[in-house]
Amino acid sequence: MNSFIYQKKSLGQNFLIDKNIINKIIKIGNVEKNSTILEIGSGNGNLTSKIIDLNPKKIYAIEKDKKLTDFLKIKLQKNNKIEIINEDILNIIKIKNFGKNIIVFGNLPYNISTQILASFIQFEKWPPWYELLVLMFQKEVADRIISKESSSNFGRLSILSNWRLDIKKHFDVSRNCFFPKPKVNSTVLSFKPKKKNKFNIRNPKNLEMVTRVLFSNRRKMINKNFLKLFNGNKSIAEDLSLKLNQRPEDLSKEMYYKITMKYEELFG
Ligand code: SAH
Repeated sequence: MNSFIYQKKSLGQNFLIDKNIINKIIKIGNVEKNSTILEIGSGNGNLTSKIIDLNPKKIYAIEKDKKLTDFLKIKLQKNNKIEIINEDILNIIKIKNFGKNIIVFGNLPYNISTQILASFIQFEKWPPWYELLVLMFQKEVADRIISKESSSNFGRLSILSNWRLDIKKHFDVSRNCFFPKPKVNSTVLSFKPKKKNKFNIRNPKNLEMVTRVLFSNRRKMINKNFLKLFNGNKSIAEDLSLKLNQRPEDLSKEMYYKITMKYEELFG
């Protein structure tokens, strides 16, 4: 099979072909001899081969596409440190134990990139089993992840991901660095789990719910939606020193964490 002609659009297959960019991405991970690596969507193994060159202790390569998995097994079979797994990343991270202090790489399929990120935030045990995520997103999605309050990009994605992760932007990647060429440019971000978190939310699903309700009318003031959350109890806004005549994008991230903690305090 010629992997450069093969493409399943539904699986977001755009293969990174620029060697310089591949090397820059790998460098971010600081891979050492005793590292364990998890790669999301190994595709035709462009990144995987470069990771192998660094000779880490173990590499898990997760690829949903059966044909690509078979191709990878032939291409990389000589290496006994790699385990190639034909699975959906969203399933396997719930069931398989990869060990500890894992470094995760992924040039993510665009259509499920935010879902993948969300699932890396939701582990019950925190800090989780990974120490670093090095992930490539569509540029517009990365802009939303790193956005600050009062900007038009600011929203749920940024609130959720900054709650438990320290996020760093590394560089943009032109769409010309891929084959087949996607319609959009990309950005590489890295994420480190926060070891200590002042905002001790018990269930991440509550933060998701609170932000969903409060962002349901982006253009409108939050008062109605806030009162819906708290059964009309206005004094809660006062407790939180929160003005209800603001738009959702004008509240700080920390305020969303506080609102969620308050919600958990009252409704379990
Ligand atoms: N890492 C390669 C390929 C990136 S394209 C490179 O940089 O060149 C994204 C890859 O993710 C594709 O190979 C696609 O088949 C795979 N993929 C898509 N959805 C997936 C899922 N849910 N779980 C695991 N892999 C997936």
